[in-house]
Amino acid sequence: MSVENEGYLTIEELKAAGQYPSGARFQEGPVAVIECVQEIPCNPCETACRFGAIRVGEPITNLPKADEGKCTGCGLCVARCPGLAIFIVDKTYGEGLGAVSFPYEYFPLPSEGDEVTAVDRAGRGVCAGTVVKILAPESFDRTPVVTVAVPVGKAEDVRGIERAGQAGGQS
Ligand code: SF4
Ligand code: SF4
Repeated sequence: MSVENEGYLTIEELKAAGQYPSGARFQEGPVAVIECVQEIPCNPCETACRFGAIRVGEPITNLPKADEGKCTGCGLCVARCPGLAIFIVDKTYGEGLGAVSFPYEYFPLPSEGDEVTAVDRAGRGVCAGTVVKILAPESFDRTPVVTVAVPVGKAEDVRGIERAGQAGGQS
């Protein structure tokens, strides 16, 4: 993780870590982007994926590796990651829009249809967005997953939304 970037990751750093989907895969539909670069003993992402698209293996401190060819973009891994480090990016959402799904552990939850400010990895507002889906089944424990539609050109940058009445947000 870059010090000069004050703790948040850049796309270049994720690519260097081998954790970033290819441009071709982004064009095929929703795909998981795993932004986990700390070698900690953790692997719920691996067990969450019923498609075998995430591999941690042994030792458990390995960084997770995603197989973009196996990933369906289902999103099951997003709520299971205690590090809030997995996102689903869909650059094919339609009509110039992309969709980004992210874990959201703040209350109150937004509502579908809300117009919001989408924020980047550093919590900076980058564009307007519309909340299009909120998933919060019991199986997600305490981590709802929110999906926001944004201009497709911002889909690789957006990683959360600004909370109501508060500048910044989840990065
Ligand atoms: S989005 Fe679904 S298929 Fe892709 S890595 Fe996560 S759980 Fe597996
Ligand atoms: S569950 Fe999250 S924090 Fe844990 S290894 Fe997987 S991506 Fe990293």
